[in-house]
Amino acid sequence: MPVPASQMWTVASYVLKQRLRGRTRYPLVLMLEPLLRCNLACAGCGKIQYPAHVLKRQLTPQQCFDAVSECGAPMVSIPGGEPLLHPHIKEIVEGLVARRKYVYLCTNAILLKEKLLAGWFTPSKYLTLSVHLDGLEEHHDFAVCREGTFTKAVDAMRLAIDRGFRVTTNTTLFEGADPNAVRAFFDEIMELGVEGMMLSPGYAYEKAANQGAFLRRQRTEALFAMILSNRDGTPCQRSDAKKPRWRFNQSPLFLEFLMGLRDYECTPWGMPCFNIFGWQKPCYLLQEGYADTFAELMATTKWERYGRKSGNAKCADCMVHSGYEASAVDHTFRSLGGLCATVKAMVAWRYKNRGAADKLALDLTERKGPGTTRQFAPRSALVQVGLPRD
Ligand code: SF4
Repeated sequence: MPVPASQMWTVASYVLKQRLRGRTRYPLVLMLEPLLRCNLACAGCGKIQYPAHVLKRQLTPQQCFDAVSECGAPMVSIPGGEPLLHPHIKEIVEGLVARRKYVYLCTNAILLKEKLLAGWFTPSKYLTLSVHLDGLEEHHDFAVCREGTFTKAVDAMRLAIDRGFRVTTNTTLFEGADPNAVRAFFDEIMELGVEGMMLSPGYAYEKAANQGAFLRRQRTEALFAMILSNRDGTPCQRSDAKKPRWRFNQSPLFLEFLMGLRDYECTPWGMPCFNIFGWQKPCYLLQEGYADTFAELMATTKWERYGRKSGNAKCADCMVHSGYEASAVDHTFRSLGGLCATVKAMVAWRYKNRGAADKLALDLTERKGPGTTRQFAPRSALVQVGLPRD
């Protein structure tokens, strides 16, 4: 089971309570950004292009605790920026765990080993270290624009797993992602002993440096169908596997949505974002104003202007985790049909797809040409931010 039963129970009872109270718009996960600065400068990131005086600012622990209690969501994800750069992150995490919030501390793990050795965190069912990894070594280092990052992250993850921490990975896939390489990456990550993996397509941030890297909706579905189908073996082999080879720390219905097997509308209030500017409208990705309080965010945001059906061009191709995972979780608990679909997704986990298997097999065959030295090497050269390409 990728998520502990106590966490599943907490989420299930919370969602049912919201529905019994007649609340159709409720937060599921608070995205708490205590700072925006980072020790990486990834090409697909839309968070780090602020001027230096903004990047120096950070939330105090008390501001974090107040936001958590205002929002009331049972889970808190701490992205950034890089949260381990925050001088009070230990106090923030301890305070949230003491409040019995399920905390996902998102990190690129460059500083994780150092912080674990310094005794900054204590293993708890409430604390998950969610390590950002975008693929196998060369793919990840390419995506984050710095060599050596994958090795450092994996080293820190091994230490964290040895020490009894809950460890997951979070992976963002962009245009040009290689489905065979992503599947090989999943195999490698599961061998490390992580609790589960989280996936999302990237969002086309207006501020991001590499605008050509973002996936459009149909390509997103085709890519995820190739990656997430045939979960019982390699595309060329028959398999009598009794268990899924991969565990995911997210809703199976959200994964079906990514594969194009079901459709959802965005629920941007499901994962509200609080950061140094306030409560961000309307979602984690768009910045169309800020509210001073969570109540003001919910009351004053023109929610009907967002999501695919609204016709808003900024939402047309968006399928990201922070917009749609809460929609999938809500579907699970909204009706018997949703619950049955979730159970079916967990039981019928193979997702046999002959077309996807054939494409993967063809791709593998084409790689075996002369001069191929690394089976899953990225298809472009590694470019470090700030350094000229040869
Ligand atoms: S679809 Fe939802 S998550 Fe995506 S940009 Fe629009 S409001 Fe934000």
